[in-house]
Amino acid sequence: MRYFLECTQCGERYESDYGSQICAKCDGILEVKYSKKIPKVEKISSFWDLESVMPEGSYKHFWLGNTPSISSTSSKSLYLKLEFMNPTHSFKDRGSAIEVAKAREYGFRDVVCASTGNMAYSISYYAKLYGLKAKVFISDDANSDKIKDIKSVGDADVEKVNGDFTKAQAMAINYSKKHGSFLCGDYCYRKEGQKSIAYEICASNPEIKNIIVPVGNATLLSATYKALRELKDSGSIKHIPKLIGVQSDMCKPLVVAFSKGSQVRYCKPMTKADGIAVGYPTYGDQALSALKNTSGTAVAVTESSLAKEQYTFLRDYGLVAELASVSVIAAYKLLQPKGQSVAVITGSNV
Ligand SMILES: [Zn+2]
Repeated sequence: MRYFLECTQCGERYESDYGSQICAKCDGILEVKYSKKIPKVEKISSFWDLESVMPEGSYKHFWLGNTPSISSTSSKSLYLKLEFMNPTHSFKDRGSAIEVAKAREYGFRDVVCASTGNMAYSISYYAKLYGLKAKVFISDDANSDKIKDIKSVGDADVEKVNGDFTKAQAMAINYSKKHGSFLCGDYCYRKEGQKSIAYEICASNPEIKNIIVPVGNATLLSATYKALRELKDSGSIKHIPKLIGVQSDMCKPLVVAFSKGSQVRYCKPMTKADGIAVGYPTYGDQALSALKNTSGTAVAVTESSLAKEQYTFLRDYGLVAELASVSVIAAYKLLQPKGQSVAVITGSNV
């Protein structure tokens, strides 16, 4: 294999056949590292054209990714990347396709994850495709339509917890230890799959100046930065665009940490935007570095602006987007960054 895993906390290294995404020594999250130089990527006609920049494995090549971008009605400088065109209508599928395949490759028969809705929907779908069972812990702020979707798409055992995402995550970790299930979620293999969004953005517009993403667990933000570093190092792009992370002002642990220059600290999620209702982002520290290293920023938008942008999105494009997804449009209007921008519309499960 041309990759290995390294703990982000203690630095312990594991071979690619290590069947977990968590460090056995310190419970830290692992990172995929490549032992060979990442190749230049020039043309992408499907998600699977990016296998050379991802952990190789026994994937089945289900359709996903290569999502369209449309011009925004609010600014000529803003493009919207429509991630809800993926099979379970959110960007999560890019990570699930890699992560669940790895579980199967390692010989697991079932997977477990915590979710505010979209993650569980996606994991359930890919578990079914790859022939695995899924157990999902859903936070109590997940909307009932998402729970119906999860149940309709696969055979997942759905458990709604009495608490927020952080509690659901702790329950998923315990379940995986007790039952020997492969722990899925916002971890290293998902992060590799999520990199593909930035690869597609830069392939279609190498001169892009700003990439705006919603922040829940901050996996998308840190994956985007990892992709941009790879693209720069391989000579695929000349300049790294600024990253802008967006949260609701009713759940903004990353925004607070970024503005104070402090570590990320837990806050109780009070936002109605369930996709970004995460009080303690797993990739918070990495996200802070990504913002700093790209001269980017983190911004919080109001709950009322989310509701307004959701309505405007439906009116202008005839399309439905989640509150978490339209946060990026509200942030663009607030900041009005210079140069071409792309905002990632992550999901439409409402
Ligand atoms: Zn460790």
